[in-house]
Amino acid sequence: MAQTMTDKVLSLFKECNALLQGHFMLTSGKHSEWYFEKIRLIEKPAALEKIIDLLVKKIQSAKKDFDYVVSPAYGAIAIGFLTALKLGKKFAFSQRLDEKMAFRAGFAGIDKSRAIIVEDILTTGGSINEVVECLKQREAQIAGIYVLVDRTAGAVHIEGKPVSSLLALKIEAFEPDACPFCKKNVPLTKPGASDKKA
Ligand SMILES: [Zn+2]
Repeated sequence: MAQTMTDKVLSLFKECNALLQGHFMLTSGKHSEWYFEKIRLIEKPAALEKIIDLLVKKIQSAKKDFDYVVSPAYGAIAIGFLTALKLGKKFAFSQRLDEKMAFRAGFAGIDKSRAIIVEDILTTGGSINEVVECLKQREAQIAGIYVLVDRTAGAVHIEGKPVSSLLALKIEAFEPDACPFCKKNVPLTKPGASDKKA
């Protein structure tokens, strides 16, 4: 049986351990069956490249006209950069400068350009909205918004439109006392705990 796009992307994410299935405690304190470890994506460039190849095909099939791929720092830089390289486009990243998302002065070419935004994971759309604002301030046109994973499965719209994703996965988070995995006594893991400051 032919693998669907979703299966293909899921297996690539699992291959690089960026998507873990089990029983996890999220930073919110809620429990979930799925956990994304974004850092695993950029840790294994060869695995990331296979995912980016799928994203590039998706972008190419939309036949959009643009000059730049833009991503927010830091996690999505590698993703956007590799996408731009494969598409033969320019790349720029936005970052927080004095708390506010902005482009460094060196990215002057972004002014009045046409750009697509590439981000790793869509959760609330907060950082993508900030990139949209940055591009508008530079009078750039936004030709498309792409994410590897849409954790809201299309629920979050940006600029009134759903975001294009390789993988749309509705991640349910449960209060501990309503968690089906707790009820089944599945061992609970707290990923990334060693990263957090006490
Ligand atoms: Zn639980």
